[in-house]
Amino acid sequence: MQFRRLEDADLSGKTALVRVDFNVPRCEDGTISDDTRIQAALPTIRAIREAGGKVVLLSHFGRPNGEAKAEFSLKFLLPVLEQHLGEVIGFTGGDDPVSIKENITLLENTRFHPGETKGEDALAKEWAKLGDIFVQDAFSASHRNHVSSAGLANYLPAYAGLAMERELDHLSQALENPASPVLGVVGGAKVSTKIDLLSNLVEKLDMLAIGGGMANTFLAAQGYDVGKSLCEHDLKDTALKIMDTAHEQNCRILLPIDVVAATEFAAHAPHRVCGLDEVGENEMILDAGPETVNGLADAIDRAKTLIWNGPLGAFEIPPFDTSTFEAAQYAAKRVKRNGLIAVAGGGDTVAALKHAGAAQDFTFISTAGGAFLEWMEGKSLPGVEILTGEVS
Ligand code: AMP
Repeated sequence: MQFRRLEDADLSGKTALVRVDFNVPRCEDGTISDDTRIQAALPTIRAIREAGGKVVLLSHFGRPNGEAKAEFSLKFLLPVLEQHLGEVIGFTGGDDPVSIKENITLLENTRFHPGETKGEDALAKEWAKLGDIFVQDAFSASHRNHVSSAGLANYLPAYAGLAMERELDHLSQALENPASPVLGVVGGAKVSTKIDLLSNLVEKLDMLAIGGGMANTFLAAQGYDVGKSLCEHDLKDTALKIMDTAHEQNCRILLPIDVVAATEFAAHAPHRVCGLDEVGENEMILDAGPETVNGLADAIDRAKTLIWNGPLGAFEIPPFDTSTFEAAQYAAKRVKRNGLIAVAGGGDTVAALKHAGAAQDFTFISTAGGAFLEWMEGKSLPGVEILTGEVS
């Protein structure tokens, strides 16, 4: 994929407005429980400073709905950033007049301004006065048409930061220009949240494995009795249509061929492996069975590229994490031994792959949730669009 990179920008003596994602999870005592997003932002900030540029950081945090609310202030990040970057970090915004004094300045939560989420032009114009170039480094916010994600590019030349660059390079390697055959693994709770995603993937992939609660809707559409399983019976026609399109497009669909059923949705609930036509009326399918995992391993063996979103079962409650765990482990092994390109993303997916101990061996794990899904749906992302084409 062609886009403007940080290396294309003249940074010396310039001030870069850098969109980062500091929407980090915090514990009750205020400490940051996972600093992945902060770590992801550091290389771009350092690169701009090393090239002789100044940095103004923009990020949202939570949903303050256009109002300055103390609990959503970004001030808590100052000591953390100062420790990582070894420089005094300025802070401005909120109700203060914006003033940039330090070499690195953190702007208060962008969502304190009602104009941010509306993509308001006047706000873009005002923020653009703070710098010379716009660096988009938050792929996770790039599906939003907000001022800090896209609108600033109307007034400043826009470049991808290094974290964005990694996302775009890996994601386009997996879906736009992949080594084939390409296998998709899509799991999760419901078909309804992933109709666009499944419809797009069956047009592009060679094989698509469908798992998790959403597979139950496909099984029900094929006439199986899924008992008390999570199932969207009203979407059976949609499921059949997706299967028809897959057939027309030569995309092989892999559905569970055996399942793990239980009468209770609870950790270590009594359970059994059974065939698709053996699920009792009081039972629910909570995981894929061992034969399904074997079939998936065969598909992983055939694939050169794997793209994964969503767990294959109720992975939060053991032992219904087994198929997700085993398939992820198998894929990780193929990455290490056979050069499989394996890319994954989406909130629950990252948690599931980490839980399986497989995340570190995947070729790339996207830090984005919604943006990753929209990219898999084939949608154009406003915060990425601004990085392509000529600078005006
Ligand atoms: P999603 O957010 O759509 O990716 O869905 C993730 C959720 O789907 C997780 O919380 C899983 O526990 C849940 N899930 C996956 N498979 C099943 C299943 N067979 N029955 C109920 N929930 C499931």
